[in-house]
Amino acid sequence: MKTTNRRAWLGRTLLGTAALAAPAIVRARNASARVVVVGGGFGGATAARYLRQWAPQVQVTLIEPATHFYTCPFSNHYLAGLRTWDSIGHSFDGLRRAGVRVVHAHAEDVHHTARTLTLSSGQVLPWDRLVLSPGIDLRWNALEGYDEAAALRAPHAWKAGPQTLLLRQQMEAMPDGGTFIMVIPDNPFRCPPGPYERAAMVAHYFRQHKPRSKILLLDAKQNFSKKALFLQGWKALYGDMIEWHGSAQDGQVIRVDARTLEVETVFGERHTAAVLNVIPPQKAGFIADRAGVTDHSGWVPVNGQNFESTQVPRIHVVGDACLAGPMPKSGFAANNQGKLVAASIAADLSGHVRPAALYANTCYSLIGPDYGISVAGVYAAQDDGRIMDLPHSVDISPLDADAAFRAAEARYGASWYAAISADIWDR
Ligand code: FAD
Repeated sequence: MKTTNRRAWLGRTLLGTAALAAPAIVRARNASARVVVVGGGFGGATAARYLRQWAPQVQVTLIEPATHFYTCPFSNHYLAGLRTWDSIGHSFDGLRRAGVRVVHAHAEDVHHTARTLTLSSGQVLPWDRLVLSPGIDLRWNALEGYDEAAALRAPHAWKAGPQTLLLRQQMEAMPDGGTFIMVIPDNPFRCPPGPYERAAMVAHYFRQHKPRSKILLLDAKQNFSKKALFLQGWKALYGDMIEWHGSAQDGQVIRVDARTLEVETVFGERHTAAVLNVIPPQKAGFIADRAGVTDHSGWVPVNGQNFESTQVPRIHVVGDACLAGPMPKSGFAANNQGKLVAASIAADLSGHVRPAALYANTCYSLIGPDYGISVAGVYAAQDDGRIMDLPHSVDISPLDADAAFRAAEARYGASWYAAISADIWDR
């Protein structure tokens, strides 16, 4: 689909989602309906905010242990030195002002017949609808030797927080001329372009501070999001600093020794790092398991019409934890899904017709400060609940674009981050 057509589709989709509920701020028939949302990240905080906005009489409680949410989006920019840590942190004050009751606790258990949620504080919350957006858990020991203790020496930094700060400290302490190794999992995982943007952002840092250093990417797969654009951008900005080994080049790592910072591949090759960044295989956050909504894959199958679990009614799961067909595990997608779920629950509680299930996504990646690339798509749920991408809607930015185009995409990415942060937390 041509960019102009895609933009028109994106506009219709996003405006459509807002328009379906905005004029009809619903008066829930059941004024005491209680909706509990687990997770104050991209999916959960969006669902909580928009449900309050579109169904003001519904009691919305958001459960999130952290008092500040640090985003994975732009955490790679922090590693590069292009962003401060504070600039990617968001408080929940805006959600409180919007009428969401925010409780800082861990959700520990779900009773789906009694319809209750048990918190780490011991409190038991009743719910009429439960929305889960717990993000990912890491599959410890899926790579031999890589467990929670190993992550303290070889950080994953795949949840923004202390792990991200640790990785940056290790980069600062690394001698010039050292090798930064990143271990990358097979699909599906959080943020398909994330590892490759990280490689570029680490290279940007090394260019400035440790120019003799190398980056080795050991990947369990042969293809990845925006591959041709990344390969072109890495070469243009960093020459031979970044070396990528896919599965066909014996890139799949099966064993990690975090003590010696050594990794071993499927065919027995060993590599030793000065800084080792292991991104392990993943699954839905554990509360999804406790709610009985995960399947054998460890992720949550949902009905794409309203993101309700296909296994347990009245539990909706959005964001990285769910299986949303071709929609990537991205913050943009989680935000879209959170809005759809809010509109859908508001409609159910007020007897209105549910909104059309149309979704959009754009993932921007930064290769250098003035060098951005993107992939975008538009998706619709079918009558049977499966999500499909609309024909010709998925498109990436062109290869061989000029410097002005790349600089514009870098600016669009920064604007996207400011807009989505304001949409979810910062207002
Ligand atoms: P999260 O945003 O992670 O939120 C989950 C929340 O649930 C957390 O706050 C957690 O504390 C809470 N939680 C978990 N379990 C419990 C529990 N039991 N009780 C209470 N609370 C709980 N996406 C983009 O769109 N654009 C990007 O540029 C981008 N860049 C990325 C870069 C990196 C390096 C990474 C790793 C990811 C990136 N992503 C990007 C992906 C994006 O971060 C995720 O897709 C998004 O965060 C998913 O939202 P979520 O709501 O599912 O999970």
